[in-house]
Amino acid sequence: MLGLSELAPRMLQSEIRAMSVACDAVGGVNLAQGVCDTEVPEVVAEAAQGAIRDGHYIYTRLDGISRWRRAIAEKVEASCLRAGDGSGVDPEGEVLVTSGVSGALHAAAMALFDPGDEVLLFEPFYGYHLNTLRSMRAVPVMVPMDGPRLGQTGWALDLERVRAAVTSRTKGMIVNTPSNPAGKVFPRAELEGLAAIAREHDLFVLTDEIYEHFVYGGAEHVSPFALPEMRERTILISGFSKTFSVTGWRVGYLVADRRWLGALGYFHDLTYVCAPAPFQHGCAAGLEQLGRPFYAKLALDHERKRSILVEALEAAGMRPNVPDGAYYILADASEVPGATGAEKARALLKQTGVAAVAGSAFFATRPGERNHGEDLLRFCFAKKDADLEEACRRLRMMA
Ligand code: PLP
Repeated sequence: MLGLSELAPRMLQSEIRAMSVACDAVGGVNLAQGVCDTEVPEVVAEAAQGAIRDGHYIYTRLDGISRWRRAIAEKVEASCLRAGDGSGVDPEGEVLVTSGVSGALHAAAMALFDPGDEVLLFEPFYGYHLNTLRSMRAVPVMVPMDGPRLGQTGWALDLERVRAAVTSRTKGMIVNTPSNPAGKVFPRAELEGLAAIAREHDLFVLTDEIYEHFVYGGAEHVSPFALPEMRERTILISGFSKTFSVTGWRVGYLVADRRWLGALGYFHDLTYVCAPAPFQHGCAAGLEQLGRPFYAKLALDHERKRSILVEALEAAGMRPNVPDGAYYILADASEVPGATGAEKARALLKQTGVAAVAGSAFFATRPGERNHGEDLLRFCFAKKDADLEEACRRLRMMA
């Protein structure tokens, strides 16, 4: 009999995409999806257009063009490895150019996890992490983080809770720093604690560092790859969707020990073949030519956008958790009409024309327990100033 796989009915359309569709239908301002519609750096756009003109339109090597792998290896060496460490990143055997962070994560999970393997996720989590694991029958195991206490901003991770979640089936963990949706920039001490657990129980650490350049107020981004004795077990994953505002280009990378890289590359090839060739050239040029001032300005611009949205949410009576990184704000929507986060998001869209995402999309639903995100809404502030200001004007009208 014809039918979907046993898995298919459990893979629901993401609430983020659903809200974007609802927002388009009413011509609203979309703060739901992290589409990042800010300007693409000129050097990146020019190099991609040049690559199309110059005929770079066939498959690249499965691990990506050598120029970009070299630039990635240099970047990771500069940001993660201590001078005199003696062990650089080899662009010929330790770097894989991928179809975005999503493609990298999918390939890594395919290559490293078997059905039934348990993988730790920290809650609130990013839905693709959960569903990527589920789609290959690995078992996501949620470790809840503690939300900000009154007068504080950050989400706290209890390392003892992490330790208690490890079983004989645990094979890895996914660390998203800075995180979506909480905006948590994992401090070095916490990462060292996670690294100790990973070493003790022989776990892989898959990172998602897509927001590495979006850090505010003196917070410092630290990659688990940079910690002592972590290179062998860390799959460093990052990408350019957000940094260069090119979410539709599908460009990212991973760095891993050469023992794993062949298999990771094979699975990436099987699904994506390669990242789009001209866009690899565009990002290579960006990485080669844009220096510290570009990244510093990116963080400052977004810190300013963060303040604009924080102020509007406060005025609207939705107490915001001020994030240290990434570009989302989780705000308290208990006063917005609706019994669930999804109802509240739709009520807000109806009342103001501003789309946000139900917080419940980022928390587990446990039997007999109310989802911890039902009273939260997530707002994205990576928008052009005019759109962000229009959204804030509408939100303030709720006051
Ligand atoms: N990882 C996180 C935490 C994200 O928030 C997003 C996009 O919102 C992605 C990955 C998607 O990355 P990419 O476009 O490189 O696949």
